[in-house]
Amino acid sequence: MDLHVVGPLASPAERAAVDTVLGPATSGWHGGGRDSRTEGHAARGGHEARSHRDLLLPALHALQDRVGQITQPGLNYVSRRLSVPPAEAYGVATFYALLATRPRPPRVAHVCEDLACRLAGSGQIARDLERALGPAGQAARDGELSWVSSPCLGRCDLSPAALITIAGATPRRFAMGEADAAAIVGSLESGEPPPAAVEEAVAIPQAGSDGLRLLRRVGKVDPASLADYLDCDGYRALRNAIAMGAEATIREVSDARLVGRGGAAFPTARKWTAVAGQPAQPHYVVCNAEESEPGTFKDRVLLDGDPFAVVEGMTIEGFATGAVRGYLYIRGEYPLAEVRAAAAIEAARAGGYLGQDILGSGWSFDIEVRRGGGAYICGEETALFESIEGRRGEPRNKPPFPVEVGLFGKPTAINNVETLANVLLVLGDGDGVGGGRRYATVGTEASTGPKLFCLSGNVRRPGVYEVAFGTTLGELIDLGGGVPDGRAIRAVLLGGAAGAFVGPNALDVELTFEGTRAIGATLGSGVVMVFDETVDLVAMLRRIAAFFRDESCGQCVPCRVGTVRQEELLARLADGARGRPAAEELALLGEMARAMRDASICGLGQTASSAIESAIRQELVTL
Ligand code: SF4
Repeated sequence: MDLHVVGPLASPAERAAVDTVLGPATSGWHGGGRDSRTEGHAARGGHEARSHRDLLLPALHALQDRVGQITQPGLNYVSRRLSVPPAEAYGVATFYALLATRPRPPRVAHVCEDLACRLAGSGQIARDLERALGPAGQAARDGELSWVSSPCLGRCDLSPAALITIAGATPRRFAMGEADAAAIVGSLESGEPPPAAVEEAVAIPQAGSDGLRLLRRVGKVDPASLADYLDCDGYRALRNAIAMGAEATIREVSDARLVGRGGAAFPTARKWTAVAGQPAQPHYVVCNAEESEPGTFKDRVLLDGDPFAVVEGMTIEGFATGAVRGYLYIRGEYPLAEVRAAAAIEAARAGGYLGQDILGSGWSFDIEVRRGGGAYICGEETALFESIEGRRGEPRNKPPFPVEVGLFGKPTAINNVETLANVLLVLGDGDGVGGGRRYATVGTEASTGPKLFCLSGNVRRPGVYEVAFGTTLGELIDLGGGVPDGRAIRAVLLGGAAGAFVGPNALDVELTFEGTRAIGATLGSGVVMVFDETVDLVAMLRRIAAFFRDESCGQCVPCRVGTVRQEELLARLADGARGRPAAEELALLGEMARAMRDASICGLGQTASSAIESAIRQELVTL
């Protein structure tokens, strides 16, 4: 395929940035200098170039990091290098919120406007930034700085939050917690994070408490040190797995009755068995760290504070499923997690825990980190595959399921970060044998093991908490110090924006899959966001509706149109500008929710109304 690219092929800086990902261009047909003696008439290397399509998003990130935007010449160069039509590459670039396809200053503050940050005053930050730098999206200070609003940045424990991106020859990205406008402008100007930012990232309220298992190393060991990790039970689970073999490893996970912690609660062992038994080769494993559900931040804490555990968990998953390669897909809003995971992978490789003949087993496996581009929908497993493959992150129709046709069309086991951390508990006990049954004694019959909850909102000590399944909602909120200033609870959001609100009468509910299901709620990804009696809950519902409107990938009509109409309808109800009586508007809202639930391709559309409907049904809001 000879691509006709209109316009120039990138500046030297842009070419250099792309070449760091793709290597130097070796053919005139693909962005290099053409040697008329060897390739004057015949194009070579097209198949080879197209086989690297999965490097499209990393190449776009490299451009974004270098010049602060994806310019047309830059995009042309990437298209040429990968033999991807420019229109397709443009379609990918415009899909991701962290990639700018319009002129933008090199230094940008992404200021969270989602639920927990709203409660903590992000609205005031936006007003202050507007006074200091002008409206969102506008260039300030001679075109050097800008700020934009962002959906949840996964720092609800440290809200209000911001992410600073600084493009240039030495690009920087860092997150800020407990931010204010002055600190954000200061960091934009200096290019430096506030001094405490890194320590804050791994601070957990239960640090030093007895009985922690999933969080036992967080804040205690140096996350950059393999030696520290080994001193604290590191790689015992992998050794046990290799010693007992792949089948026995899956049997232990099955005995543990471990289910996925990402939201779907699918039995992990069943997934691994299905992949291991597939005749098609190669097999892949993917760790889903695209943790974008508003209110969720536990995977960030694990990756920032205990990255080797995630790497070891993926390695065990790879061993059990007979995989050759793993991809750790980390959301673009987690720069520290990305750096720490990449360093852990490198150290593990140097230590013989990744690469060829791991621990003398004869089995070879490696892991690659991929950075997300700022798209909630990429948390959906098939959308994530599309994203890795260099396409827009649009979910696929299922079946076929990923265990048969997953990443690159091959059998793929995809698990969440917390799920993999639990695998270490199953296999890391003693010699590992019987670890599954011991693990299953924690929690309840149907919900086994410890669980991480992301407690945020109006509580004294927000953060990630580890408790056994079966702890009640009230006990968890008490663990977080309760609601400040003696105020009463108005509502609690369980499971995130795709979850459900419950009222204060639900404080006795056990936090288990079955317990929350029984009251029409869900544990989802472990979000527990508390709203006290002073909160304008209608404004929160409108934010949830706007979130889904913005994050819908637009692939199917019920979701693309329904999320827009849902937000409009809520706005009409809230503003009192109704075209019809409130009862009729609410009936229409219910009808739209039904259509989205029944006819959307993926979970986003199917759950975009859940939280809103739950609040209305329980009369937690008056519309
Ligand atoms: Fe995309 Fe929404 Fe359809 Fe999912 S339900 S595929 S997010 S349009």
